[in-house]
This record gives sequence, C-alpha cells and structure tokens, in this order.
Amino acid sequence: MNYDFDLFVIGAGSGGVRASRIAASHGARVAVAEEYRVGGTCVIRGCVPKKLLVYGSHFAEDLADARRFGWDTNGATFDWPTLRDNVAAEVDRLEGLYGQTLGNNKVEIFLQRATVAAPNLVRLADGREISAKHILIATGAWPAVPAIPGAEYGITSNEVFHLEKLPKRAVIAGAGYIANEFAGIFHELGVEVTLVTRGDKMLRSYDQEIVEKLVGISRGKGIDVRFDFKCPAVRKQADGSLLIESGNGDDVETDLLLFAIGRVPKTKDLGLEAVGVALDGDGAVIVDAHNATNVPSIHAVGDVTNRVQLTPVAIREGHAFADRVFGNNPRTIDYSAIPTAVFSNPPIAGVGLTEEEARATLSDVKVYKSDFRAMKNVLAGRNERALYKMIVDGATDKVIGLHLIGPDSAEILQAAAIAVKAGLTKQDFDDTVALHPSMAEELVLMK
Ligand code: FAD
Repeated sequence: MNYDFDLFVIGAGSGGVRASRIAASHGARVAVAEEYRVGGTCVIRGCVPKKLLVYGSHFAEDLADARRFGWDTNGATFDWPTLRDNVAAEVDRLEGLYGQTLGNNKVEIFLQRATVAAPNLVRLADGREISAKHILIATGAWPAVPAIPGAEYGITSNEVFHLEKLPKRAVIAGAGYIANEFAGIFHELGVEVTLVTRGDKMLRSYDQEIVEKLVGISRGKGIDVRFDFKCPAVRKQADGSLLIESGNGDDVETDLLLFAIGRVPKTKDLGLEAVGVALDGDGAVIVDAHNATNVPSIHAVGDVTNRVQLTPVAIREGHAFADRVFGNNPRTIDYSAIPTAVFSNPPIAGVGLTEEEARATLSDVKVYKSDFRAMKNVLAGRNERALYKMIVDGATDKVIGLHLIGPDSAEILQAAAIAVKAGLTKQDFDDTVALHPSMAEELVLMK
C-alpha cells in the first residue's frame, strides 16, 4: 500500500508534538492536524499560562512581606491587562517555537480539525482525505461542565486566561488542582473567592493531612471554602450578577463562575466508534501498555486515554509510541512514583503513596513529619506553617511517599522524588548532610 504519510497525528499538544518529532527523527513521513493552536492545552491554556499567573499573583504577598525586609512598597499597583497580555505574548512565542520544531523535523502541519474516516484514513475539516499507515489520536481532554440549569453562565479554564477585567467576586466550582490553583490566583489578585465542591474532600489523590493544611491556610487568607455545595442551578439576576444555588440554602452571589470540575477525553465526533476503536464509559480511548488500540493502525497517547492527565506523562507516552512503531524500540512507561504538584498558595507537592494509601496496603507504616514556619515567613510576620510528611515502609525502611505543603514545595520535591523512585531508605535521607539554611533540609532532619 502507498500511503500519503507513515504517521498522521491528530492533535498538536504535548503528546502529539513529541510523537511527531520523534517519529520524524526515525525517518517517518509525518503529518499532524491541529484544530486550535500548536502546543496544545499545556502551552496554550494550561500549565504555562497558569504558572505565569501564579507567579504574577504571588507578588501581592511578596510586596506585603517586603516591607518587613526594609522595602517601601507604597504605591505599588496591579494592572490585570498587563499581566494577561504579557502572558498571552509568551504563549504566542512558545506556540511559534513548537511550530518551528515541527517544521525543522519536516512534519507537515494541517491547521484544522481532523477526524478518523477509516483505519488508515483521516478526513480534514476542508474535506480532504489523507491516508496514513498509522494514526495517532492525541486530542487531549476538554473541561467538563455540569448538566444544570444556568451552566452556560459559567466559564472554564479555556476562557479564564482571556478575561477582559477581573471580577469583584468569583465562585470556583471544583475540588481538583485547577480549582485550588485559580482560587489562589484570584484571591491574590484581590478577587473575593468562594471555592465550592459537591463532596466533603478536596484534592482526593493527595495526602489528606496536607490538604487539610491547605484548606486551613486558604481560609485564613480569606478564601471562603465550602464543602457539600451541590450547585443544582445557576441563575442570572437583574443586575447581571449570578446566583449560585448551593442546594442547602447557603446560596452565593457572584460576578464570575469558573467550573473546574474535571476534564473529559476529547473523542466526541472523532469517528472512532465507526471504525471500531474501543472507548470506555468516559469516552477515553482504551489502549494497552504500548498505547495501541484494538484497531492495529490506530494508537492513542495523553489525556485522551485518561490514564494520568499530566504533560510529562503525555510526552513520555508520545515518545515511547514513536520509538516502538518507528524506532524499533518497544518500551513501556513506568507509572509509579510520578511527582505531582498543586500550584495553590502555598503549593502542594507529592510523590509515592499517601499516608492513607500506605496504611491501607502495608502493615508496618512509619510516618515522619516536620511542621515548621519558613524562615522568610517568620521575619515577614506571616503566620503560615509548612508541613512535610515522609511515609516509610517499616519492613524495609524505604521511603515510599513524600508530601509537602509550603513555599517552593514543587521545586523541592522534584529532586527528592528521584530518591523515592530509586527506592532509597530513611537511613539514606538521614545520612545526607543538611543544606542549611533551606526549607529542603527538613527532608533529611525528620525525627
Ligand atoms: P493536549 O495538550 O490537550 O493536546 C491536544 C490537542 O489536540 C489540542 O491542541 C487540541 O486543540 C487538539 N485537537 C483536539 N481534537 C482535535 C481534532 N479533532 N483535530 C485536530 N486537533 C484536535 N499538566 C501538568 O503536568 N502540570 C500542570 O501544571 C498542568 N496544569 C494545567 C492547568 C490547566 C488549566 C489545564 C487545563 C491543564 C493542565 N495540565 C497540567 C494538564 C496538561 O495540560 C495535559 O495533561 C496535557 O496538555 C495533555 O497533553 P495531550 O497531548 O494529551 O493533550
């Protein structure tokens, strides 16, 4: 068979770009279709602009604290359009670089939507049909919106980076990392924030003692955190504001409603069912450990498979796919001990088993903790404590989990995650000399 391409990738996001580039470097003729902007969610409307807003918003506290360090910050003001537009310009720059990388690797880009027409055929929005020996589904995920009356008055993370002006009040619905991150961002920027969730827990996959600390600190800063808030309906009021019903009589009036209730795999109307690709109940593409679907020519990586919805994971999957199919190097991804973070204020970072998970699976669990106030917070007069937890398997002395909340915890955890991944012991941590003065030294000083 003569195909137009060896590989056609649908979606130029984290997974799709990496797969395209690596497949091309192995000598494959590659094309990629992108319906929105090259770079995908992470670069365009996810990790990157989000982290820049975290930096931008944190200056509110930094400026307040600076006074205790001798700086006169009177007169400092904040301008949302400046931050928004500078972030948008950085996103434009990165989008250009991603496009350049694809071009340098001779990957042909079709800037339009693509669907699967047959096991070896892709249909573009302009009607063209393109054949390929392999098709990679890398279409990512899409923000979920609840099926409730008035849901159309809310926005999602897709729109939040483009707000014309900051609202006076915002309700953020959700219990995951995106909800907690935007609660911190908006609050720092002076918005009155109410964070609401249907259930009785935030950040379920994180160590709950650490999460409780975040909820306590968030409330202490002035974020109104509400649990068991069912949100059966949203009503637009005569003055243009929104009334968010709670289901328990505790309704909240707001100017902006942000839904951050999860992300669903983006497979709607993609043509997958028609060609026989198996999807799960959430619409995720079902793949094996090699990212292969049940249709031999069709593969999938990243958020669309709903395994671990993180950029570094999508990148690894895309790379492994390309190495297997075009580089004669079949390998699988090790999903154990993936470090993750919530860029809330303060941030949370964790790797390995939480205390809850360890106690549910092991008989001898030792937990070491350090509850401390960062030196900088002490001088600043900021009564905000950090908490570091180390989970150890008592039978082997191996450190099987590390969970941190405190300034720069994500930066600190990345290096420590290597030790957890490598199976180092509590004794190995104890044998390491502290780097003083730092917050990270708490990791080797736990009693
Ligand atoms: P995506 O990056 O979503 O790429 C999919 C691409 O496919 C998109 O560009 C889309 O437009 C395109 N597409 C979809 N359908 C079609 C079609 N039919 N035809 C053509 N193109 C199509 N992850 C982290 O690791 N760290 C973080 O801090 C982090 N923060 C986040 C913050 C936010 C607000 C959000 C929303 C996500 C965040 N993520 C973070 C998650 C991260 O963005 C995703 O895990 C990652 O982008 C997944 O990569 P992907 O390649 O699977 O999909």
